[in-house]
Amino acid sequence: MSFIVAIDGPAGSGKGTIAKKIANKINAINIDTGAMFRCVALKALRENASVEDKDKIRKILNEIKIELKPNGKVFLDNEDVTTKIRTEEVSKYSSPISTIQEVRDKLLNLQRNMAVSQDVVMEGRDIGTVVFPNANVKIYLDATPEERAKRRILQNQEKGIDSNYKEVLEEIKQRDYRDMTREIAPLKKAEDAIYIDSTNLSIEEVSNKILEIIEKNKI
Ligand code: C5P
Repeated sequence: MSFIVAIDGPAGSGKGTIAKKIANKINAINIDTGAMFRCVALKALRENASVEDKDKIRKILNEIKIELKPNGKVFLDNEDVTTKIRTEEVSKYSSPISTIQEVRDKLLNLQRNMAVSQDVVMEGRDIGTVVFPNANVKIYLDATPEERAKRRILQNQEKGIDSNYKEVLEEIKQRDYRDMTREIAPLKKAEDAIYIDSTNLSIEEVSNKILEIIEKNKI
């Protein structure tokens, strides 16, 4: 049986960075499920598929090939889209795209298959609640929207992108709202998940907390 660590939380809570670190430490595969939804969103944008256009979305799901490489690179239909899936346009579109039942069903299957024969640290919105309700360790990582907006601005600065605090904060709040209120697999803390507020914690501090929890659960 593989060992599964599920990390859920809103955009900017630090899930991505933390999941990578933890996976490295415990020799597991890190799976960024948000990147998978972003791939669907990018393909839908390129093919002008609206959320309502179920036939086009179905066709996209039948044809799509998503690969998460061990080095963190993301491939969509054999093309390296690692940076292309991180634009504001794709971020915004990934949220409505992820409300579609067929999209969630397709990705759920892929996600479960990824953990059949290897230990995984999987991060997303519904990993502890829907994808792996029996995960060995479940974490819900949170931070205030204001702190998450600040982090996003810093990330953008590192990429040479100028961004407006108010706009970023608004986008984060809208995405939270949509992710938390959707009918299928909404973002919420699983009852048995451990809640960590990272607002005033460093990446190191959060990682160490999670590693301690993993240690306890491995015994
Ligand atoms: O984590 P990230 O911000 O890259 O995710 C992009 C979007 O994909 C989220 O806003 C959310 O709508 C969707 N998502 C999801 N379920 C997951 C992971 C991501 O609905 N497990």
